[in-house]
This record gives sequence, C-alpha cells and structure tokens, in this order.
Amino acid sequence: MNVQNIHLVTDEAVAQAEEARTASPLAVRNLTVSYGQTPAIFSVDMTVRAGAMTAIVGPNGAGKSTLLKAALDVIKPLAGTVTVFGEPLAVMRDRIAYVPQRASVDWDFPTRVIDVVLMGMYRQLGLLGRVRGKHRAAAMDALDRVGMTDFATRQIGQLSGGQQQRVFLARALAQDADVYVLDEPFAGIDAATERAIIAVLKDLRDTGRTVVAVHHDLATVPNYFDDVVLLNTQVIAAGPVDDVFTEDNLQAAYGGRLTTARVDPESVAG
Ligand code: ADP
Ligand code: MG
Repeated sequence: MNVQNIHLVTDEAVAQAEEARTASPLAVRNLTVSYGQTPAIFSVDMTVRAGAMTAIVGPNGAGKSTLLKAALDVIKPLAGTVTVFGEPLAVMRDRIAYVPQRASVDWDFPTRVIDVVLMGMYRQLGLLGRVRGKHRAAAMDALDRVGMTDFATRQIGQLSGGQQQRVFLARALAQDADVYVLDEPFAGIDAATERAIIAVLKDLRDTGRTVVAVHHDLATVPNYFDDVVLLNTQVIAAGPVDDVFTEDNLQAAYGGRLTTARVDPESVAG
C-alpha cells in the first residue's frame, strides 16, 4: 500500500466515524472532567449505537457516573462535545431521559410516587405545570409498566430500594424519550425488580429506543447488553460485547482489582 492509499483509507475511516457520530443517539468526543487536580474522565470518546443497549462498565471510581453526568450537562466538562442525533444536547434535551444513581437522590423529600412520575412530564406540562387528566393517565400508565400502580399515592421515602428504582424508571418512561440513560439501575435492588427493569429496558430497545446504562455486574453484561464501553478514566475498549469482553480488556480496565469482582473473567470472556 502506498502513502496515497493510506491517506484514502484514513479519510474514509474519519468520514465513517463522523457519520456514526451524526446518526448516534448520544456521541461524546474528547470529554474531560476534573473535580480537582486529576481528571475523573480523560478524553473520552463514546458513540452509542442507535437501537442498542450499551453498558458502561468499569471499577469503582472509574468515572462512569461522571461520564453520564457530563454527557447530560449535569456537570460541566473541562473539554469535549456532546451531540444527540448529531445536534447539540441543548436543543435535544427532551429526547433523553436520565435515571440517576439511586444513592444520589434525597429520598426524605416529601413527595408522592405519582408526583415523581409527573415530574418526568414537565416539558409536556409547560412552565405553569397544569396537570390534566391525560397527564395523570400517562403517569399511571408508566407506573403500570413497572408494576407500581398500587403505590401511586405513597410517599417515595416509604418505598423499598427496588420500588424506588421502579418509580424512577417510570418517571423516565413518562418522558417518552428516544434515549434512556441509567446509572446503576440494578444496584441494591431485589431479583424480581431486576427482572422487571431489564424487561422494560429490552422492550424499549425492541421498539427502537436506545438504552445506555452503567452496570456493575460483569456476569450479566453479555445477557443484558449488546454493546459495552469499558471505562477506567479513559476508554479501555468499546464495541459489541463479544468483541470487547475479553480477558485482556477486562484486566486492563480492572487491573489487580478484577479478583475482587463478582465473576472470573474466564467465565465471561468470549
Ligand atoms: P464511578 O461512577 O465510576 O464509581 P465517579 O464518576 O462517581 O465514578 O467518580 C470518579 C472519580 O471522581 C472518583 O475518584 C470520585 O471520587 C471523584 N468524584 C466524583 N464526584 C466528585 C465530586 N462531586 N467531587 C469531587 N470528586 C468527585
Ligand atoms: Mg457511579
């Protein structure tokens, strides 16, 4: 291959990457976030595939939550750009629903379940927030999808962890977004809730929505997700689970800490 050919291949690869980013429901480029001296995430590129379920996986403190927050403009990055279907996030906000890490939410705040779900609809409701029958019906429908209709008038602080997680998913469903971004949706919940949530997420994917979730259980990644981003401050590897979930990549992401993870990489690596 001569030099000219190499140039052609490179240009084509660049054009393809650009096209993938434009079509992507969520693409971040060169994203760097720092809370202090050292960056929590450094120069992260991530191009989420439309209609797929993508897991963000990495050890504690790897910057997974930081990546999601910066991608959704909850915190300001030092550098980087974020596009949603090729457009700036600012004009596409209502097409992304975000379910934060449950531990980061103040559950003592006195609010009923139905009101939490209605918060997901504030854009439809408008600034004056006049709730009409159709909004209430949509909120109840979202609660039905997560099996929580009987709890509509409960205070959220009175719910179990699994029930709280279902309610937060219902709030995202009520938003009727195209992209669902969840931070550790299965952390600290019961097995029945995990099954219920994964069923809802797969249903979203199967109806053309895109799902991105931080996930901590390596064992269930191949079963739950199509694509995976292995993160440890920087992106270690990204792509289809079968390609990315190799022992080498997992060792690179987890280092010596993999022995304390819940599974042996031999059992999950393809
Ligand atoms: P993960 O979600 O992968 O466990 P985080 O994104 O929460 O990781 O955190 C990445 C790093 O940034 C960690 O070292 C964490 O201690 C630090 N960090 C996260 N949030 C803050 C914050 N608000 N202020 C200072 N440091 C933070
Ligand atoms: Mg986190």
